[in-house]
Amino acid sequence: MSHVIAANDLVKAFPASRRLSDLLRGRRPMVRAVNGVTLGVGAGRALGIVGESGCGKTTTARLLLRLEEATSGAVLFDGQDVTALHGKALLPFRASVQLVFQNPFDALNPRFTIRRTLTEPLSNFGIPADQQDARIREAMARVRLDPAEAYLDRHPHELSGGQLQRVVLARALVAHPRAIIADEPVSMLDVSVRAGVLNVLRRARDELQLAAIYISHDLALIRYVCEDVAVMYLGRVVESGPTAEIIASPAHPYTRALVAAVPVPRVDQDRGALPIQGGLPDQVNQPSGCAFHDRCPLAIPRCAEEAPPLRSIAPGRLAACHLV
Ligand code: SF4
Repeated sequence: MSHVIAANDLVKAFPASRRLSDLLRGRRPMVRAVNGVTLGVGAGRALGIVGESGCGKTTTARLLLRLEEATSGAVLFDGQDVTALHGKALLPFRASVQLVFQNPFDALNPRFTIRRTLTEPLSNFGIPADQQDARIREAMARVRLDPAEAYLDRHPHELSGGQLQRVVLARALVAHPRAIIADEPVSMLDVSVRAGVLNVLRRARDELQLAAIYISHDLALIRYVCEDVAVMYLGRVVESGPTAEIIASPAHPYTRALVAAVPVPRVDQDRGALPIQGGLPDQVNQPSGCAFHDRCPLAIPRCAEEAPPLRSIAPGRLAACHLV
C-alpha cells in the first residue's frame, strides 16, 4: 500500500551541551533524538508509535509535521519529498497534515469563541469566506458537536474537557487534511470520556479515509485504534508490524516488556513477560552495540558490541534483535 505520509531514514540531532568549557575545547557532543527512523501510513489506516518518554516518538511526529528540520533523511507526502519546502510552498502540506494537540486546555485560545477558533485555520489556508461556514458546520458534525449553534459562540471555559478535545479535532478536520498526527490525544482527559473521543477520531479517520499516526506511551490505547504499530527505543524503531500480531507475539525483548504491561482480560495469559530494569540510558553517552543491552535480560556478549539491524522477521514485521 502506498503511504500518504512517511519518514525515510529520518535523523534529528541536537547539540547536547551549550557549556562554554565544551565550546572552548571545540567539543560539541550531539544527541540523536531520532536515529534513522523509517515508517509510513496509508489512507484509512492508523499507525501507532509507542515507547517510553524520551524515546523520540514526539520528535518523530514533529519532523513528520515539518515543525522541526530534520538533520538528514526525508519526509514524504504522497511519495513526494517535502523536506526542503518552506514558506508558501509548504502551505498545502500544512493544510494536508494536521496535528491533534495533546492538551485541549492549552491548545485553544481562551479569548476566542469556538467559531473564531475554527475560522482561523481556514483563513490561514486561503479558504474563501463564503465557504467557511459550511466547512465549520461539517467539522462540528463530524466530531459530534451537534447542533453547531449550541457551541460556536461559546468560549473554551464553557465546555467540558471532552468537548474541548472534539473542538481540537474539528480544528484539524476543518482544513480537509489527508493525514492527522495525534500526540497523546486523550492523556489529559478524564478516563470516562477518553473512549468517546477515540471513537470520534476513529470514525473520522474511516469516513474521510485519513492516514492517522498516534503517538502514545500506552500500548492499550494503540491496540484500540491502530492497525499497525512501531515501537521506538532511544530514537530507533526496534519493532514494527500489525498491532494484533505484535501484541499476540512480541518479538523484541523491549516490546515484550511493553506488552506485558498492557492490561488484558485473561490475567493468566503467558505473553512472554520479561523483567527489564532501570530507565532510559543517558542519550549523550548511549550504550554501544544494541542500545537496549544494559536493560535487556536476554543480552549476550555480542549485544554490547554490535547493533542489530532492523530486519524482516515475518511478512509485514520488522525487529532489531540478534536473538529474533
Ligand atoms: Fe537484547 Fe541483545 Fe536483542 Fe538487544 S540485541 S534486544 S540486548 S537480546
